[in-house]
Amino acid sequence: MFSLLGYPRCCVKLFLKFNNSDHVGDLIPLIQANTRQATAHSFVVNNAYNTAGRVQAASGAVNFITKIHILPWHPCSYDCAQSLSRGNALFQFIESIAPDLAQRLQRALRGVVLYFDNGHCASFEGAMDGRNRLQYNAMRFSPTLRDYYFLKNLRAGNELRIEDNVVRIRKDGQALGSRVCTTPLLLDFSS
Ligand SMILES: [Zn+2]
Repeated sequence: MFSLLGYPRCCVKLFLKFNNSDHVGDLIPLIQANTRQATAHSFVVNNAYNTAGRVQAASGAVNFITKIHILPWHPCSYDCAQSLSRGNALFQFIESIAPDLAQRLQRALRGVVLYFDNGHCASFEGAMDGRNRLQYNAMRFSPTLRDYYFLKNLRAGNELRIEDNVVRIRKDGQALGSRVCTTPLLLDFSS
């Protein structure tokens, strides 16, 4: 059915594999593990704010998240050639008919995402320093996060570091706090 909708075969294949097995977590860590490109990904494939079919209700994220995305499907990797070319074509189409909407979408989707706890995420303006470290100017928004101290520290800090399942937050080199998370990942959509 998904192929009939024009979704790329490679992406349908990964989604069905995720959907048919007893995965406890979300699809995003699988997509990230499938991604070879170590540098920044295009914002057109950012699916962190598209929970459709991937986030389990138990994670709590599904109730809060805003659905912002360009691709109608989940990519099989963040360097999937078909998702990138169709995502770019879709974005150009949106730009041609609704330039204001295109600008808002780009602003929301471009940036670095901290992904954690099976579906939760927060968006940052900053630059990656290796795969597990982010230097940032600002935390822009978190559509799902309701942990007051974690949010407060993320807003106050300017460096994030992931060490195994711990997210460490620093401000100008000083430790602000840390939090144990399920599968924390930094996803760079700043290209
Ligand atoms: Zn694909």
